[in-house]
Amino acid sequence: MDSEKTAPSADQNSNLRPDGSKKVVLSGIRSTGNLHLGNYYGALQKFVKMQDDYDSRYFIADLHALTTNPDPKALHESVKQILAEYLAAGLDPDKNILYVQSDIPEISEMYLLMNMHVGIGELMRTASFKDKARKALGITSESDEIEKEIIGNQNNNARVNAGLLTYPTLMAVDILIHHADYVPVGKDQEQHLELTRRFGRRFNSFYGVDYFKEPVNFNFGGEAIKVPGLDGSGKMGKSEGNCIYLIDDEKTLRKKVMRAVTDAGPTEPNSPVSQPVENLFTLMDLVSGKDTTDHFRKAYADCSIRYGDLKKQLAEDMLNVTLPIRQRILDIRDNDEYLSKIVKQGAERTREYAAKTLKEVREIMGIRKI
Ligand code: ATP
Ligand code: MG
Repeated sequence: MDSEKTAPSADQNSNLRPDGSKKVVLSGIRSTGNLHLGNYYGALQKFVKMQDDYDSRYFIADLHALTTNPDPKALHESVKQILAEYLAAGLDPDKNILYVQSDIPEISEMYLLMNMHVGIGELMRTASFKDKARKALGITSESDEIEKEIIGNQNNNARVNAGLLTYPTLMAVDILIHHADYVPVGKDQEQHLELTRRFGRRFNSFYGVDYFKEPVNFNFGGEAIKVPGLDGSGKMGKSEGNCIYLIDDEKTLRKKVMRAVTDAGPTEPNSPVSQPVENLFTLMDLVSGKDTTDHFRKAYADCSIRYGDLKKQLAEDMLNVTLPIRQRILDIRDNDEYLSKIVKQGAERTREYAAKTLKEVREIMGIRKI
């Protein structure tokens, strides 16, 4: 049986493994569109902060993007765009390995092998699968009957594809193929990361080996972040249409923020804060800092708040973060020669690590030459 454990607490104060080598950091972002503030604060900013001290490897998850069936041309553009956005946000190709997931065929083979140790039931129970399956089938209810709906569904135009189901297997392989120590991700990915640990433990125990280690999220001692959307919803997401993108121009960004969902405003002192307004405070904490948020929270508590003022300030502070990055994206993204050189180098180095792991995994599983 698998043992259920909480996330292991690796010593996050040291960037070195017991053998003196640097700890390995691995993370990726799906090429499903432009990067937004959720990606930035949940993931990318952590990547940049870790690049000096760790053996860090970041990829563009184009195979993961396929699970939601993108248009081929858009997929290709998005891979390039995300690479440019990685670089524009401050990732240095001399300090990190940057690669495209589909350039590493070893990942696909190990995904097949790892699937033999993954249960359909546990995959069907993951929150993000349920959400995406509901979307694919056009189900609006939150009911837990989704498994029945999937199996009973006879409409081939509204199917839930198997790649979507096995997304956590692929994610586990992305991480385990590098024997990564840390996987800096946002809060929404923590359940997948727990599955990665579970699959690794299961592999170890099935074959009686001590082969895979248990990777953990990395938050510089803080909590994992979930950046909310501007539509009052819980999560800003590329597929949700509620994002502030790093590439947004000034006018677009201001317009989006001014249109963000709020409520009628407090009429009594110290009223509870509604979710959409709490979301704006959360965003403000990230881009403006605590003093500014405290000022507006106080104004909320004594009913003097004007949401228009809060939004103006929020837009201003968001622009301070995004505009310099936007400028660098525009400078880099059409330099095909530069971009392709970076991922070519990244693929060569990654394939060396990946080939070694795959060879060992095949050995352990009993796939040997006659
Ligand atoms: P999609 O909607 O296509 O799944 P996404 O916006 O959720 O896209 P991903 O590529 O799935 O982005 O995630 C990339 C990284 O960004 C992950 O580490 C994820 O945890 C993080 N991330 C995404 N959205 C948020 C968010 N709203 N808050 C914090 N982190 C986030
Ligand atoms: Mg996502």
